[in-house]
Amino acid sequence: MIYNALSIPQIKNYIGERKLIVSLSGGKDSTAMALWLKEMNFDFDCVFINTGWEHQSTIDYIHDYLPAHIGEVTTLFSGGMEDLVMNKGYFPSPKIRFCTGALKIEPMRRHLNSLSVDIVNAIGIRAQESAKRANDPEWEENPSLHVEVWRPIIHWTVEDVIAIHKRHNVLPNPLYLKGAERVGCWPCIFAQKREIRMLARLSPERIDTIREMEREVNIRRQQKNPNAKPVTWFHRSGLPMPIDAVVEWAHKSKDDSPELFEAKDHHTGCMRWGLCDVSHPQMPQNPET
Ligand code: SF4
Repeated sequence: MIYNALSIPQIKNYIGERKLIVSLSGGKDSTAMALWLKEMNFDFDCVFINTGWEHQSTIDYIHDYLPAHIGEVTTLFSGGMEDLVMNKGYFPSPKIRFCTGALKIEPMRRHLNSLSVDIVNAIGIRAQESAKRANDPEWEENPSLHVEVWRPIIHWTVEDVIAIHKRHNVLPNPLYLKGAERVGCWPCIFAQKREIRMLARLSPERIDTIREMEREVNIRRQQKNPNAKPVTWFHRSGLPMPIDAVVEWAHKSKDDSPELFEAKDHHTGCMRWGLCDVSHPQMPQNPET
């Protein structure tokens, strides 16, 4: 394991015979990372984990736009968010975050195991995104996936990210141009109020889907147990809150009033390993991320 900044030849030598797997999210940082690795003539494979819950623009961006610039992208898919929720009979939440494990970690684990080679997994997260991320090392073992994680752009600024898009004449995910601050699950269970307002504005059909999921899941729960408590996609103060009430609250609530939840553990797990690009209420340094 190495922790010091190395030259490009030294890094290539360090990676050696291992396969370099680049995790793509459809966001600007992982795109910038892939562009830089190509620029530096690294040999790598790109992987995108499709949760079945991304905005169609992200899917199209990954499948139809990016390959011309960074090479082919392997998409992993394991059933999708809606099936997962229906099978579970309840929704993922900040306390029971089964979505990450089922939709991201397991498909990635299966894919990596199928390669039967040692892996270096490059993930596009930057120290500038939060004070906690600033402490992430460039290289680190991921004991869960049994890979060494490399964060090639950990010290990049957002200006670096924009510059490499421009240098390669690559457009960002169109969702950014519509005002989104993060891409990925649409919405994430950690969505903040401004993201919920954007979801309602850009994707009213996704609100309809969530409303229908809430209705269907609760009918099934009642059929199994008439005393079953209602469940919803979002919670407020730990209590279920139907999607229409959440959207109404997000529109009425002031930006400086509390969010649906307080993020305490975002630095661990999915975010640390670049699996989920979740919002962080305590992330004032880089509000555009
Ligand atoms: S981005 Fe959010 S909703 Fe999607 S898998 Fe990760 S925690 Fe779950």
